[in-house]
Amino acid sequence: MNGVDVVVVGGRVAGASTALLLARSGLSVALLDRGRRGSGTVSTHALMRAGVLQLSRWGVLGDVVAAGTPAIRRTVFHHADGEDLSVAIRPRAGVDSLYAPRRHVLDRLLVEAAEDAGVQVLQETTVTSLRRDPAGRVAGVVARTGSGAQVDIAARLTVGADGIRSRVAEQVGATTTWSGRTASAVLYRYVEDPGADAYEWTYGAGAAAGLIPTNAGASCLFVSTTPARMRRLRRLGVDRAVSELLAAAGPAAVERAHGLRPLSTVRGWGGVPGFVRRPWGPGWALVGDAGLFKDPITSHGMTGALRDAEMLARQVLAAHGGAVADDVALADYQRVRDRLSRDLVATTERVATYDWDATGIRSLLHRLSAAMAEEVEHLEALAPAGAAP
Ligand SMILES: Cc1cc2nc3c(=O)[nH]c(=O)nc-3n(C[C@H](O)[C@H](O)[C@H](O)COP(=O)(O)OP(=O)(O)OC[C@H]3O[C@@H](n4cnc5c(N)ncnc54)[C@H](O)[C@@H]3O)c2cc1C
Repeated sequence: MNGVDVVVVGGRVAGASTALLLARSGLSVALLDRGRRGSGTVSTHALMRAGVLQLSRWGVLGDVVAAGTPAIRRTVFHHADGEDLSVAIRPRAGVDSLYAPRRHVLDRLLVEAAEDAGVQVLQETTVTSLRRDPAGRVAGVVARTGSGAQVDIAARLTVGADGIRSRVAEQVGATTTWSGRTASAVLYRYVEDPGADAYEWTYGAGAAAGLIPTNAGASCLFVSTTPARMRRLRRLGVDRAVSELLAAAGPAAVERAHGLRPLSTVRGWGGVPGFVRRPWGPGWALVGDAGLFKDPITSHGMTGALRDAEMLARQVLAAHGGAVADDVALADYQRVRDRLSRDLVATTERVATYDWDATGIRSLLHRLSAAMAEEVEHLEALAPAGAAP
């Protein structure tokens, strides 16, 4: 492959979206992922309003809906003091429902949209190292295909969208600017739940549970707690751990989960503390979990990745057009990402302590809601870049 303007490492929500936006604006882009096209990944799938807004503006939401992803009309919160709060999704910013697509649906649709925009997509291709120019600036990637062939791609900018264990971040030595201390361990499985139209969250004694309606008449049922408690419970077996944590989350969770036929085995996530990395340097940038990872308990990772794909793409395009210098543009990307993420990161860190009562968690949820409203306002105020042609 000849050189491209931008090579993106990692082809899921962050990488495929960044590639899509850059290609729609005329840049030559290569997108590499070591996984198979349309593969799933660990997730409970819930998108927040800003994420749905982005998919809608990019012309991808229609395909998500056409894939049978149910519309979420309400969010229901069950608290340990007995309060059950049902909040309707108000139409705002052109979004009147939320969605929780399976990752083999969403990530595939984003990759296909990127490909339609002209992105050269290489799946089952693992980036092994970065190219450097004589001055040490990152200048592309070296990768290996599934059949063992080496691929060398020169690029003006290399984007690491390669998740929490980012090879790009490691190779450029990206500085960690904030490290979290708390983490959730999660168990989840898919259950038969046709017609469900609400995200349901239950917060109890050091544990949380949720039901998130997704494709094919299924909901993703999850339970979460601290990693230490999860390790103790898992010694009893995963099914017992799930029922103990449903009981700890509260009677509403037990009642709602009762009798829902399992459609999958139980899958687990052991918990990784959050972090924020400096997301740019000479010839490189990071987007999505590679640059900023929040604990999954607040279900904002994909929404944050879709938002920051747009923030990064705008700055890359400004620099490409010569309107600003590369470092000024990328520093601006970092500034906006960090400003919009500050409260989300801090609040998520507190939620993942599992050390709250009903009043405490309500106040944290209010803070989250305010931070998410601010991010929607920010996106709404931007002229839609990357709209479908
Ligand atoms: C248990 C759990 C539940 C979650 N639930 C939610 C939720 O309900 N809502 C939500 O918004 N978020 C949720 N998240 C978070 C969400 O999954 C992530 O924030 C999101 O996947 C980040 O997207 P990404 O594109 O940055 O990275 P990823 O999805 O991690 O994708 C990175 C890609 O890079 C590829 N890659 C890595 N290294 C290389 C390499 N060297 N060469 C080539 N390719 C490479 C990988 O194959 C992968 O496809 C959850 C996370 C967990 C762990």
